[in-house]
Amino acid sequence: RKFIFVTGGVMSGLGKGITAASTGRLLANAGFDVTAVKVDPYLNVDAGTMNPYEHGEVYVLKDGGEVDLDLGNYERFLGVDMTSDHNITTGKTYQHVIEKERAGDYLGKTVQIIPHVTDDIKRRIREAADGSDVCIVEIGGTVGDIESMPFLEALRQFAHEEEDDDFLLTHVTLVPNSKNGEQKTKPTQHSVKELRSIGLQPDILVGRNAEHLEQSTKAKIAQFCDVPTEAVFSNPDVEDIYHVPLMVEDEGLDEFVMARLGLIGEALPKSER
Ligand code: ADP
Repeated sequence: RKFIFVTGGVMSGLGKGITAASTGRLLANAGFDVTAVKVDPYLNVDAGTMNPYEHGEVYVLKDGGEVDLDLGNYERFLGVDMTSDHNITTGKTYQHVIEKERAGDYLGKTVQIIPHVTDDIKRRIREAADGSDVCIVEIGGTVGDIESMPFLEALRQFAHEEEDDDFLLTHVTLVPNSKNGEQKTKPTQHSVKELRSIGLQPDILVGRNAEHLEQSTKAKIAQFCDVPTEAVFSNPDVEDIYHVPLMVEDEGLDEFVMARLGLIGEALPKSER
């Protein structure tokens, strides 16, 4: 099974979810069974009690799960039904670990974030991925947040436990414009540095700017972030988010992902997608 993790840098609300869902849609078009997991690094057990003015509407799944509205994007983009197991929160994970601790399941061990919480996170991701060819895992929040740390540590361990061609990390960051209209890469460089400081090297970088990234911007990001230029993609602003899959397909995101994961041979030919 292939896992594609998606993290975000610089700030939230960048379009991480849409980038993740679009990658999934393109792989589904290529004939793969794709599912998704959304990780929300908050202590609420689920989104059911959260203020919709602050957080957007709660999305209710077929199994009654009250989850983050990003799951709605995944269901619509991928055309699959999800369950509440596809939304992992800090609250859910901690609640389960603490219940196990109270039941004596840890046999007197000191219960810790590493390995007990991180093991529970990895277990949940693998269980949610069961039955799919590709599982897209979006880590909510921004790299560097205290809240995200246990999830990013679980991700680091995950990368070691999986074969190289079963694991891919996409990092979505902001590429702002300077006053004179130049695309600036420094925030991207800093957020990749932050990722690397916790042992994670992205395979793909997606730069959010109102426009497509210029070739020179891509080259600079590639040079500073240790990825090939072909691994740097744009995700410019569009009127309709359902155009994002077509837009990233034009830049070759699907081909790059499939090549990296060794899926080209199994993919449907382009004419049949
Ligand atoms: P994140 O997961 O980084 O918080 P989301 O994927 O939820 O971000 O996107 C944040 C907002 O930006 C959403 O309202 C989404 O519809 C919008 N958005 C995402 N990508 C684009 C894009 N390429 N063009 C225009 N709007 C976008």
